[in-house]
Amino acid sequence: PTAKAEVRRSTDARPLVAAAELPPARHFIAGDYADSTSTRLLDVIDPCSEQVLCRTPDGTTDDVDRAVAEAVAARSSWARRVPKDRSDVLHAIADRVDAHGDLLARLESANTGKPLAVARDDIAGTVDTFRFMAGAVRSTTSMSAGEYLDDHLSLVLREPVGVVGVVTPWNYPLMMAAWKVAPILAAGNTCVLKPSEITPVTTVKFAELVADLLPPGVLNIVTGRGDVVGARLSSHPDVDLVALTGSVPSGRAVARAAAEDLKRVHLELGGKAPVVVFEDADLAAVAETLRTASFWNSGQECGAACRVLVHESVAAELADHLVREAATLVTGEPAVDGAELGPLVSKAHFDRVRGYLERAQRDGARAALGGAALDGPGYFVPPTVLVDVPEGAEIAREEVFGPVVTVETFRDEDEAIRRANDVPYGLAASVWTENARRSHDVPARLDAGTVWVNSHLALANEVPWGGFKGSGYGRDLSLYALEDYSRTKHVMHNHAR
Ligand code: NAD
Repeated sequence: PTAKAEVRRSTDARPLVAAAELPPARHFIAGDYADSTSTRLLDVIDPCSEQVLCRTPDGTTDDVDRAVAEAVAARSSWARRVPKDRSDVLHAIADRVDAHGDLLARLESANTGKPLAVARDDIAGTVDTFRFMAGAVRSTTSMSAGEYLDDHLSLVLREPVGVVGVVTPWNYPLMMAAWKVAPILAAGNTCVLKPSEITPVTTVKFAELVADLLPPGVLNIVTGRGDVVGARLSSHPDVDLVALTGSVPSGRAVARAAAEDLKRVHLELGGKAPVVVFEDADLAAVAETLRTASFWNSGQECGAACRVLVHESVAAELADHLVREAATLVTGEPAVDGAELGPLVSKAHFDRVRGYLERAQRDGARAALGGAALDGPGYFVPPTVLVDVPEGAEIAREEVFGPVVTVETFRDEDEAIRRANDVPYGLAASVWTENARRSHDVPARLDAGTVWVNSHLALANEVPWGGFKGSGYGRDLSLYALEDYSRTKHVMHNHAR
């Protein structure tokens, strides 16, 4: 793999999306587009061309207050709907997204630069999240009923929490919105959502596409910056719970603001997933899996397999396999046939990742593949495999969020576990071994919300996703998400009177 990676450029002169397909620079409140109280706009940039794709309102606290008031007004009638009714609405939303899947995928690719194949996968995931929650909510509204005291019947009920504030990231803009919105609405809450200021396009379009399916005020979108719109959602007295997917500093800011009135908080933060490879693992299978698990979405993935810890006796062999696999990845613009890796999402993120790569190599790591940014335009970084990474190096401790894998070695199981756990994050991990005892013992000792054995990044709507430690708390997907967006009430009837 010596050929220099290059960016395959689209030969199709037509843009991915027509101007008329892009959403206008307005919020979406109470079932319709709504002007901001400010005329300030933020540029939304296409990370392949570095040109302005469209603009979005730089939302204000007044905009948030208006949206929250609409969510409060819509709250009780939506909460009183029986689960079947809400389920029907969610199924209709899934069908609507599915029917507009091509448009939404193109919009997502135009805004994030991700290959169309990756964007299509996001849309399929979004549809399935709505379908799963539509089904799940019909079986979880009442927990239990029973007589625990003489003549007293207890009903333990799940109720909606109320108005939920949601703040989403840029890596899977629509899918992360769906991971929140589907269980939030299924459980009977209303919501005000702020998409990332750099990737608002599909979320606003989604609200437009499903507007006729939902009562006004149930789903509201306010675009803008985190420290204004996100901060107001976190501190607004009429918001009952705030859910964020984002970085650790944003999570801290949300939790601090929410502490004032003890609002509930749901945080899905960063990750630095270790891939623990024992000497008895199938090394070719590890490399084949990491080709996807490390580089999917250009590594802008909180569960990405970014930190390989491998037994020293097989480290060189694994690195060879990994380099061979990663070298076959095709980097290109979204519409290029076969493109697997797009650009990083923004100039700021590109500069951040480049800084990590430069410092890592200065600190002694060696690029067995990639290692430096590709020629522009566009924020492209090639698949990169770094070996000879010294223990404790910044690149192996901090979340890089790019197409970069580090390879470190260990001597025995205890050391592997100690080093796997020795980061502030605890979102995901994988263990590779053919040994039955290890396949049970090692996952039990890893601090991660998800542990894969002989796999990495496989996920389904039925299973929970979320972290330990600095990766936050609360769970997306599965019945656990429905629980997170509900509150428990006990009603006790004295039926002897
Ligand atoms: P980010 O924290 O910069 O932004 C996330 C969102 O938070 C944005 O909408 C931003 O505007 C908002 N925000 C920023 N400051 C805020 C504040 N003070 N109050 C309220 N909101 C604020 O993160 P990002 O760069 O968009 O996304 C990348 C991060 O998200 C990575 O750390 C990644 O690991 C994490 N992530 C986690 C998961 C998961 O499931 N655990 C999934 C995707 C991304």
